[in-house]
Amino acid sequence: MSVAREGSGIPSPEAQRPRRKPLRHPSSAPLPSERRRAAAICRRLAAAYPDSHPALHYRNPVELLIATILSARCTDEQVNRVTDGLFSRYPNAASLASAPLGALEEALRRLGFFRTKARHIRMAARILAERWDGQVPQKMEELIELPGVGRKTANVVLGNGFGLSVGIVVDTHVARVSYRLGLTDQTLPERIEADLMQRIPRKEWIAFSNRLIFHGRRRCRSRKPDCRHCELLSLCPRVGLSPLP
Ligand code: SF4
Repeated sequence: MSVAREGSGIPSPEAQRPRRKPLRHPSSAPLPSERRRAAAICRRLAAAYPDSHPALHYRNPVELLIATILSARCTDEQVNRVTDGLFSRYPNAASLASAPLGALEEALRRLGFFRTKARHIRMAARILAERWDGQVPQKMEELIELPGVGRKTANVVLGNGFGLSVGIVVDTHVARVSYRLGLTDQTLPERIEADLMQRIPRKEWIAFSNRLIFHGRRRCRSRKPDCRHCELLSLCPRVGLSPLP
């Protein structure tokens, strides 16, 4: 899961892009018609992707937290290739907290920023072990105090680990597809999330971001979006794209 900006020291590509021009409507309270369109988008996404959960491999909230920290600027497939072995060797927060840093770096070597990530997951595991009895806290403000954890990672864990709709996950796919769909005119993840939270029904927040991530990978790709076959075409203004021939 590529990451928009997290509190990790790992640079975000979004942060370096020029600000986009405003859309046809400002990022203020959405019109009723805009809410209805957003709800229709949710229904179409649900029909296209009935099974909605993250592509990361995990068995519990601790593993989901660690896998999501590791997913910064990496694909889920890359993360899954290292976490299967990592979680077998260090099956809980206490064992991960006491792992030698060199061994963790070696285990994560195939990931970008592996040294930073090794430090982050060991420190996060240490805090879980010492402060939270080895469990993952269930509040946004507690989660974002952990190393390498920002709102995106916290939303992934709260939503998919605990079923709590506190916010909407904004990764690079959600940012891109939301913009093309005219659901936001913002580039900063927190502002995109705020726009989406105003438009998407709260009961859909968790599934919406999981499904939009699938849609961004499968259909609304960065370079060559497959608009002709897109399930959302009749609902999509295709903001920023050339007219279809
Ligand atoms: S119609 Fe095109 S731009 Fe709109 S969501 Fe589908 S693939 Fe993306």
